[in-house]
Amino acid sequence: MDDVHHRDKAPIIVWFRKDLRTDDHRALASAAETGRPVIPLYIREDQAEAGPLGEAQAWWLHHSLTSLADRIEKLGSHLILRSGDAETVLQKLVQASGATAIFWNRRYDPVGIAIDKPLKETLSSDALEVVSFSGALLHEPSRVKTKTGGPYKVYTPFWRAVEAGGEPPEPVDAPKVLEAPARFPSSEALADWGLLPKRDWAADFAERWEPGETSAREKLEDFTESTIDGYRASRERTWEAGTSRLSPHLAMGEISPARIWHATRGLSKADTADVITFRKELVWREFAYHLLFHNPDMPTESLNRKYDKLGWTKGDKDFDRWTKGLTGFPIVDAGMRELWRYGTMHNRVRMIVGSFLVKDLLIDWRRGERWFRDTLVDADPASNAMNWQWVAGCGADASPFFRVFNPITQGEKFDTDGLYVREHVPELAELPSKWIHHPFDAPAAVLAKAGVKLGDTYPEPIVDHAKARDRALAAYRNIKDAA
Ligand code: FAD
Repeated sequence: MDDVHHRDKAPIIVWFRKDLRTDDHRALASAAETGRPVIPLYIREDQAEAGPLGEAQAWWLHHSLTSLADRIEKLGSHLILRSGDAETVLQKLVQASGATAIFWNRRYDPVGIAIDKPLKETLSSDALEVVSFSGALLHEPSRVKTKTGGPYKVYTPFWRAVEAGGEPPEPVDAPKVLEAPARFPSSEALADWGLLPKRDWAADFAERWEPGETSAREKLEDFTESTIDGYRASRERTWEAGTSRLSPHLAMGEISPARIWHATRGLSKADTADVITFRKELVWREFAYHLLFHNPDMPTESLNRKYDKLGWTKGDKDFDRWTKGLTGFPIVDAGMRELWRYGTMHNRVRMIVGSFLVKDLLIDWRRGERWFRDTLVDADPASNAMNWQWVAGCGADASPFFRVFNPITQGEKFDTDGLYVREHVPELAELPSKWIHHPFDAPAAVLAKAGVKLGDTYPEPIVDHAKARDRALAAYRNIKDAA
């Protein structure tokens, strides 16, 4: 076989990472377009991202890979699973398959960049072409710049720059067919990876979630057909599905942000203001990656370093009660239990539980970030770190430290009838709405009638919020005075 002919027919390896989809997957679409055989590959890397996947997301990954493998089979191909260091795996596969090209979509977390950049250089040669594509974000993080060419630190000007930059590229459709190589390389078995949690705490995840791109597209359709209409108000309703619930699908790349963005164009039912509010949320995700790209240590270091001197408490017992949803503050407990049961939590409640941990308990935001990373199905190195730093007041464009959320008034405002609390803290279900967010103030007769025995069926509050607030403000003042 002459060299040109050989190269024409030589396979292209498409390396899937956190982009477990066939739709709007530029690496896959470009490989398919060549008409050459494609070897779809997923590597379980030794070290990817800012720390290993959390347990909740490992559950998601298992099902997501199952779903991707099915999709790829339908296109006439086969997903190969390998584990280990990416360079070793790729080199072996190139040798075994005779592949002359590797395509992948870029990733933007610091660990991913640190792996991919040198890898591209090491692997590229006359005999091997390595090509990377965009797709995880609406715009490349390096493209959005301030007038002086620097990174943004504040969201609103970032949003304006994104808006002024025009529409993100149109999504590309999934290939109709993938050419199979003469022989598929061997694959490891997904079941052997042990991604499903040993304990059965993820038992209820499937009630709420169906990983995979088919489900992601269905959710997008439902959202754009109905939920987006009135999104500005519904997104604050803790007790109902008033948002898109696309975040875990985005986190695993089962749907692209461009597909979502363009699906919200020209909707007849939705108010333009609803569409803009929703797009602004998508752009918060972009902003998180922009910040992470320019501050690779954002998951572990306060962007505003002066907060490192805050004097966090050790608070192991309090931390434990926070994780279990046993703080005695119903809205906090409901959120933490929703997280444990379904691997998610309403955005508003994430802010409330975060503020409670950092300000009422004076526990370092990094412990909250880590707990979320392990238990959220949408755990994302950029969004999680940015939002925790926002809550703690130490990040970019952050909520000021002196703004301490009151868990009672927040509960009353965002769960007025206590429906969210009743669902997740069933031992309080019979309490009248008037007391549901502060059972510790309820008259004894009301508690007795609702079957609530404080300190027995439901905990007494672990802190006095007013005192905790004063302590947080004093800690903040110390920092300010020292600065
Ligand atoms: P929608 O309201 O439908 O919004 C659409 C999309 O916009 C979301 O899917 C998400 O990709 C993006 N988005 C919305 N709000 C934010 C935000 N505040 N920051 C960044 N992107 C946003 N989101 C994650 O995806 N992963 C995380 O690990 C994560 N950790 C968080 C930790 C804390 C302490 C807080 C306060 C928020 C965190 N968020 C995180 C942001 C937000 O809570 C979720 O993105 C949102 O609840 C997802 O629900 P949805 O898909 O229905 O959102």
